[in-house]
Amino acid sequence: MKRPTVVVLGAGYGGLSVITKLQKLINADEADIVLVNKNDYHYETTWLHEASAGTMPHDKVRYDIGGVLNKGKVDFVKASVENIDTEAQKVITDRAEISYDHLVVGLGFEGETFGIPGLKEHAFSIANIKAARQIREHIEYQFATYSLEEVKDPSRLTIVVGGAGFTGIEFLGELGERVPELCEEYDIDPKAVRILCVEAAPMVLPGFDKELVDYAVGHLESKGIEFSIGTPVVEATPEGVKIKKGEDVFEEIKSSTVVWAAGVRGNSIIEKAGFENMRARVKVDPDLRAPGHNNVFIVGDCALMINSETDRPYPPTAQIAMQQGAHVAHNLVALIKGTALEPFTPDLKGTVCSLGGNEAIGEVFGRKITGKRAAIMKKVIDNRALLIIGGPGLVFKKGKLNMI
Ligand code: FAD
Ligand code: NAD
Repeated sequence: MKRPTVVVLGAGYGGLSVITKLQKLINADEADIVLVNKNDYHYETTWLHEASAGTMPHDKVRYDIGGVLNKGKVDFVKASVENIDTEAQKVITDRAEISYDHLVVGLGFEGETFGIPGLKEHAFSIANIKAARQIREHIEYQFATYSLEEVKDPSRLTIVVGGAGFTGIEFLGELGERVPELCEEYDIDPKAVRILCVEAAPMVLPGFDKELVDYAVGHLESKGIEFSIGTPVVEATPEGVKIKKGEDVFEEIKSSTVVWAAGVRGNSIIEKAGFENMRARVKVDPDLRAPGHNNVFIVGDCALMINSETDRPYPPTAQIAMQQGAHVAHNLVALIKGTALEPFTPDLKGTVCSLGGNEAIGEVFGRKITGKRAAIMKKVIDNRALLIIGGPGLVFKKGKLNMI
């Protein structure tokens, strides 16, 4: 009998978790396994706020995919996926068409702009490693230009962050570390810099524990970061953003750097391929297959799962993406061997949000933590992801080993 071909799209947390688990579970003669990714490296999406602010070099955030593959079992194809033809069981890429018997889609997220005018054109999004590099370079260029110009333009040193969710807060935490360094490097008075976070909801980190949120806001405010709460961004322009401060009350903020961190959607390939979806996320069956597609699994930020306890979707996180990846590997083996597929249940261990340097907040195994303890826990979590995918060697190479 012909060996089935398993194609995995995306080498993020979800895709790489499928591959690294599958290559342990299956013999080379049982399936042909193909991994397709845009780049020949994986980047740690959960560290992109650091690369964006410039507190961590981008090279530290990424590693070679080849280093975690069993090349006797997995073929890697560096290509950009353009579409999926589920009828013909083919993936269309910029380099070739790839046929599959079983498919896993793990193409990650895109920034959600909610149709707000001007955001796509005038705002940055911490969406991938190239975007992160661009943000870092752009901010540094603004500081360099400000230091040289005779008539100073204050908007060069005004950074607006749209959204006080976890991404916005973690990025602000890194800015709190990086901006003083930039001021020092370019002989700029720190008082000339304004960092403003604009949040639509009535609180920072909506839904998170109030005591921890107060800790985070207190720490970020001590670094000079301002918050404008209950004030949605309604437009981005070449000069900055317009925010809504009340019924028919708007304020324009002049800023050369607007970073949009106000939510994510799935990869637009999901929509293009014709899967039933909500904001490019497929509401997957309990065994993580796309409804109506018995040979297509969806993992990570392209998958939507409802938490039956809260009747709300689980948040798209690396924690869940990795668990889904390992689970799909088991279900692929079951599918290939003709045994029963298992339903997936996330095992949520908690959330830790870094605030830059040695500061963080978190709820882990039901316990609240702040400060250095939380910051150490965040590094442990970051290292754990490397350990699960690449083993101790990858932790030594790329891990956050300096704990204090
Ligand atoms: P990703 O890990 O983003 O990987 C997608 C992969 O697909 C990438 O390798 C990409 O290059 C590739 N790809 C995309 N399009 C194509 C294409 N067309 N063709 C080929 N390849 C393609 N979650 C947590 O649990 N904890 C955290 O601390 C945390 N921190 C975060 C911090 C930031 C700044 C951000 C932005 C997110 C954070 N998240 C965190 C969320 C987490 O990063 C995502 O939920 C997770 O990355 C989703 O994993 P994924 O495998 O679906 O996608
Ligand atoms: P999010 O959806 O969690 O937060 C977006 C924020 O933007 C919300 O507070 C929302 O009210 C606000 N917003 C929406 N529209 C707005 C507008 N017009 N103007 C101003 N504010 C607006 O998105 P995120 O922070 O990008 O996080 C995405 C996912 O990644 C989440 O699941 C999150 O849990 C995960 N994540 C986790 C961590 C961590 O665990 N440390 C870090 C980053 C991201």
